[in-house]
Amino acid sequence: MMNKNREYAGIDYFRCAAALLVIAIHTSPLASYSETGDFILTRIAARTAVPFFMITSGYFLISRYAQDTRNLQVFWRKTLRIYGVSILIYLPVNLYNDYFSMEPFLPEWIKDLVFDGTMYHLWYLPASVMGAGIAWYLMRRFAFWKALAVSFMLYCIGLFGDSYYGIAEQIPVLKAFYQLIFQISDYTRNGLFFAPVFFLMGGKMADWRKSRLPDSAGISFRACATGFCISAGLMSAEAMLLRNYQIKRHDSMYLFLLPCMFFLFQLLLQWNNRSKKRIPASFLRSGSLILYIIHPMMIVALRLAAKVLHVEPLLLENSMIHYISVCLLSILCSVIALFLRNIWRRKFHSGRCITGSRFKAGQNSASGASCRRIKGRYGKCPPGTDRAWIELNVNHLKHNVKVLQKALPKGSELMAVVKDHAYGHGAFEISTQLNRMGIKAFAVAAIEEGIQLRTYGIQGEILILGYTNPSRAKELNRYRLTQTLIDVSYAKSLHQQGIPIKAQIKIDTGMHRLGISADSFQNVKQCFSLKQLQIDGIYTHLCCADSFDEDNITFTRNQIEKFYHLIRKLKQSGISVPKLHIQSSYGLLNYPETACDYVRTGIALYGVLSSPGDTKLKLDLRPVLSIKTRIILIRYVPEGESIGYGRSYTTRRESLIAILPIGYGDGIPRNLSGQKSGVLIRGQYAPIVGRICMDQLAVDITDIKDASTGDIATWICSDGQADLSAPAIAEHAGTISNELLCRLGTRLPVLTI
Ligand SMILES: *Cc1c(COP(=O)(O)O)cnc(C)c1O
Repeated sequence: MMNKNREYAGIDYFRCAAALLVIAIHTSPLASYSETGDFILTRIAARTAVPFFMITSGYFLISRYAQDTRNLQVFWRKTLRIYGVSILIYLPVNLYNDYFSMEPFLPEWIKDLVFDGTMYHLWYLPASVMGAGIAWYLMRRFAFWKALAVSFMLYCIGLFGDSYYGIAEQIPVLKAFYQLIFQISDYTRNGLFFAPVFFLMGGKMADWRKSRLPDSAGISFRACATGFCISAGLMSAEAMLLRNYQIKRHDSMYLFLLPCMFFLFQLLLQWNNRSKKRIPASFLRSGSLILYIIHPMMIVALRLAAKVLHVEPLLLENSMIHYISVCLLSILCSVIALFLRNIWRRKFHSGRCITGSRFKAGQNSASGASCRRIKGRYGKCPPGTDRAWIELNVNHLKHNVKVLQKALPKGSELMAVVKDHAYGHGAFEISTQLNRMGIKAFAVAAIEEGIQLRTYGIQGEILILGYTNPSRAKELNRYRLTQTLIDVSYAKSLHQQGIPIKAQIKIDTGMHRLGISADSFQNVKQCFSLKQLQIDGIYTHLCCADSFDEDNITFTRNQIEKFYHLIRKLKQSGISVPKLHIQSSYGLLNYPETACDYVRTGIALYGVLSSPGDTKLKLDLRPVLSIKTRIILIRYVPEGESIGYGRSYTTRRESLIAILPIGYGDGIPRNLSGQKSGVLIRGQYAPIVGRICMDQLAVDITDIKDASTGDIATWICSDGQADLSAPAIAEHAGTISNELLCRLGTRLPVLTI
């Protein structure tokens, strides 16, 4: 939290500056001195305030890597609540202004509620709700540049209804169009035309920052400062010109506001506050919002007070004094409001603390006892690590990507196979990380997995390796998924849906699973003539590339040759050959010389082999996944007692047994029962004893000194423990790591380190 506060110091301080700028817009502090000066301050400089607030919200909300809409929903709820309260607060002012006598009331009121705000400055709140929603949708639906283009187009429509309206007015069609828009919203500076582009900008800047490698610096401070000065200059020139030629209808949207805001925000992001004396960030965050909401009220209050006290000449006549008084009064009221809120919150929280402290007392009394191994210590632990979890080492994943990319034949690209929850690792975590690392091709087994990846914001090619019912052609098209053609009749059926679809042809070269036989040249050729299918690739799968058996090597070479033979024939018949691929992990490791466009890497990407053993190419791959759990109970069991179902294990000595809250329901194969596997606790091995249950298992910790409840037990290890590597464990369980990993299934939360 501390770091975060420091990291965003620039943004937090500018929040207050922005709020003061907004007050300037509504009080015109320089009006008494110079009309041009006031224009520059309130109609140009201060126009950065609201976009700044929107970019800031976007920065924390609209990440492409945000998995769920929870943050957005919280933002919506909070903003709508604030909007509701603000509407109520301003009711007296509305009443005073005769707001409720407008005609026709209901349509005008709805228009205000949705777009313009029931008080002039409140438009910002519905605009934020709408803008955030549109930006979120665009970011998920399209690649970033497309999303930005759409929001920019909306902004341009807005421009011509705002400061460029004079031009639009000259053209009858446009004039009619804007008259229509103004029926719905008084200004185009609203949640539809104005806000989305700023929310998107914020979201993209957050993604850039998050995905940047630690050693790259981003845009330099000098470049940002220069960019800001140039674009601010251009924006001023633009605004002055529009004013001189009286083109504007309203003056909050400029073309150069966009680059100006980009550079301004980049500058603020680089402002890292290192001093100790700081105003608390939460104070600045909430304070600026309250300032924004209440200042018009303060303008009214000041007028009334001046009237009542007969000090109008002093407080109202000089614009600067007026501005400063409004600011001071608003700040004072905001601070009071914040204090009141804090007092209220403290009261609320202290009520909840009672149970917490009782919990703590129990913890303390146990820790000092001599038999503390037996007594439970149930301390708090980081979220997600209270029972059992999957821990992903992202650095190992990055390392594997680099090592594999280096090993690829020239011109070949990595296609990441992320089927079945990315081999149990968590499809979201793995695929978004890979996408950030620059991987642009993914393979999944089922259409659901492909759609899921798109909702995570994954960009690039997504190939479905398995079968999809042709009736789902619409979804294939909508989510831009590439479908494997598993047979020629399947291809025809897909074509007959009448929807353009990206596809790849699978060739059967000897596995006899999916694909058109490599011998049926005519069938393959026919696929190219189906107009609805855009054939992007053609591939085959090797079925014994992991074997060093003489026969199997010959068989594999034959498979590869068959595939190339078919490709040559296609070329000869004048078909332009799309992307080719043959190898999966073992294909690359044992037949590295095979040159193709893609290598479909699954298991190797996750840093392990299917089984212990050798490969021709020896790569330094590092396991990505560990399975961890915590000791929840420790008990003494006397000699000669049995443990667990079926009484399959009997203690041969007085034993200390730890119960772990993980079982075959979480993917630990039940046939590892009976000391065939174990866990690491405090760096020492503890064998699994008795039968593994669905949700628990027991390990013998008699020889582990100081083990206590809450200790972490590691089963699959990512740090080089040979016995507890996935291939070794899989071998004990009579399977391969691929199955072991993908069965880790869905109950375990995934944490990345
Ligand atoms: C699963 C799969 C892969 C990935 O295999 P690994 O051995 O895990 O690299 C490649 N191609 C196809 C067709 C697959 O089904």
